[in-house]
Amino acid sequence: MRDEQRKFRRRLLAWYACHRRDLPWRASLDPYRVWISEIMLQQTRVAAVIEHYREFLRRFPTVEKLAAAREASVLAAWSGLGYYRRARMMHAAARVIVREHGGKFPASEEGLRELPGVGRYTAAAIASIAFGEPVAVVDGNVERVLQRLAGKRLAGEDLWTAANHLLDAKRSGDFNQAMMELGAVVCTPRAPGCLTCPVLELCAMRGEFPTQTKAARQKKREIHYALDCRNGDCRNGEVFLVRRARDASLMPGMWELPEVRADGLSHAEKQVPPARFASRRNDNENGRANGTSTSPSFTLRHSITETDYAVRVWRGPALSRDFGNWIAVKRLGKVALTGLARKILRKAAML
Ligand code: SF4
Repeated sequence: MRDEQRKFRRRLLAWYACHRRDLPWRASLDPYRVWISEIMLQQTRVAAVIEHYREFLRRFPTVEKLAAAREASVLAAWSGLGYYRRARMMHAAARVIVREHGGKFPASEEGLRELPGVGRYTAAAIASIAFGEPVAVVDGNVERVLQRLAGKRLAGEDLWTAANHLLDAKRSGDFNQAMMELGAVVCTPRAPGCLTCPVLELCAMRGEFPTQTKAARQKKREIHYALDCRNGDCRNGEVFLVRRARDASLMPGMWELPEVRADGLSHAEKQVPPARFASRRNDNENGRANGTSTSPSFTLRHSITETDYAVRVWRGPALSRDFGNWIAVKRLGKVALTGLARKILRKAAML
């Protein structure tokens, strides 16, 4: 068994040295950078994180800068990544690090777990990658690899035990990243590339592990928003946005376009000349506007965990301007927008 463990570590690490993706957070072992990347990568695809990671570090290059920032600025930099609680907890943790640790990260898994928003996985990832502590990580990718290697379902503490058993204690950071990389690019959920796998010989499954649960079907919904630009100037003027309540359960305090509810839409269509919604369509947009009075200016898809939204955007006045503000288009990059608002404004070429 010891020989097999050694062989496994050697092969995995050799494969990782040659084949690992060149990702920006791999250029540094600075715990601040490792931490930012680990929090961003939770529930978010690598491709979506890369640009956000660079931009976030440009705005907040040190934990001190992050701690000193206003929450609205942190949320604005986070905009587009979703799950905003992560950004709020990160901001709170930065303040704890500066206030209670003199700006230095705790150098152990145990110490890191005391920080807001840092759970077992994140603490182990930072401790091993930045400080070389011999602790294994278990995320979704590692879990899948471990189950296939063992040829049986593992859960809870058994997964952590199996991961720690395989871990190369002298190179824990590289080993953990190699396990996650193997799961992300070779031992993938649906079609594992067993023929190119560096540990094929040591794997019990060598193929797809049967899944027991079918992915839940997404619900389909349609939502409507007004893209209300002052004097119709959506390039250089101002756009009317509303702010979510501070105690809203989702994305509190973030800015978005005013929603036009299904019942409100017909009310609006009765009251507002249809041309006000549709005729100022921007020729550069490749939305689905057909120039008729009852078509939205453009449509886009927005998919979140359980729901697949068809988002219809109407150029024209919001139904009410009682709650909200006019925001200069050139300032939009600094505003804490919801992910969907950002998507809409990008499609309208305003961001
Ligand atoms: S041999 Fe196949 S199933 Fe086993 S770890 Fe490698 S990719 Fe995964």
